[in-house]
Amino acid sequence: MNQPIDLRSDTVTQPTAAMREAMLSAPLGDDVFGDDPTVNALQERMAQITGKEAALFMPSGTQSNLCALMAHCERGDEYIVGQNAHTYRYEGGGAAVLGSIQPQPLAQNTAGEMALSDIAAAIKPMDCHFARTRLLALENTWNGHPMSQAYLQAATDLARQHGLAVHLDGARLFNAAVAQAEGGPVMASVRRIVDPFDSVSVCFSKGLGAPVGSALCGSHELIAKALRWRKVLGGGLRQSGILAAAALYALEHHVARLADDHALVQRLAQGLQGVPGLSVRSAQTNIVFVDVADGRGPALLEDLKAHGVLATGLIGLRFVTHLGVDAAGIDHAVACIQRFMAQPLAKTPAAHGSAGVY
Ligand SMILES: *Cc1c(COP(=O)(O)O)cnc(C)c1O
Repeated sequence: MNQPIDLRSDTVTQPTAAMREAMLSAPLGDDVFGDDPTVNALQERMAQITGKEAALFMPSGTQSNLCALMAHCERGDEYIVGQNAHTYRYEGGGAAVLGSIQPQPLAQNTAGEMALSDIAAAIKPMDCHFARTRLLALENTWNGHPMSQAYLQAATDLARQHGLAVHLDGARLFNAAVAQAEGGPVMASVRRIVDPFDSVSVCFSKGLGAPVGSALCGSHELIAKALRWRKVLGGGLRQSGILAAAALYALEHHVARLADDHALVQRLAQGLQGVPGLSVRSAQTNIVFVDVADGRGPALLEDLKAHGVLATGLIGLRFVTHLGVDAAGIDHAVACIQRFMAQPLAKTPAAHGSAGVY
């Protein structure tokens, strides 16, 4: 097998030939001077799509979220965030390390929701004993699930009643929007999701298939602060239009096709439905988790790897579809998994696998 069927993450995509062409022909300038026409076009497009005043091209989703947190909060402020949220758990504690912002993590249900009563109880009174609670951060999609609009509205309403700002880590915002578009225009669905938020961060380097980059969108005032922090954090890039061109191309050509990735996840889920020893968790976008009984997850991962299929996880294996995967690849993965699970239990299960989150 030459090319593995790589279901580890939607970050593994290669730029398509047409995307590379768009990158090569993009007009460029020094973006630290604000001179890059392609970066400027991307930022205008993202502001327009999200209905925010301004947008800022970012090297990564991590830096985008961090700049947002640092723009919303100052030293000694606090943000409320899910215990398992990417910003809190998987970004090296950047808000605390580099922003002097205290996180207040709260338990989440399987939909990624923090109970409204927990949020309300966590908001500190204005008193010199406490950090100043300034911001609520949510994440959508959550483990591949679009959050319900009702929850987004209720949580952001609650935050506003207490004078908090609200940030959305929408790394896979377009997956959520496509899943919830219900036949209507995807961009209207994007607007609906981000409307209640002051700021939103979106990744181009995931399902959209660009090699690099994210965007932070929000008010002029917020984006001006974020731009300063981006420079401080070393994210002021020069002729970054060569990267922004890939993101612009992706916005034009790779949004509607996310539905194909979602369909491939359904194909995988259906192929594994009813296989003894497997429990497929519900899937709505391009990520599906499959629980493997009897501690066979790591051995299954090893076996898949030997057959040219890559995934991540331990007990709950994670499969992610993207533009580098097709139906034949999914069918091959399904056949490999079915064959493995049909074998009698191995005497010595493999010792380890990878539990990475990407
Ligand atoms: C991937 C991801 C990020 C960070 O993006 P990077 O570009 O990898 O830094 C942030 N939040 C969520 C939910 C993500 O999935």
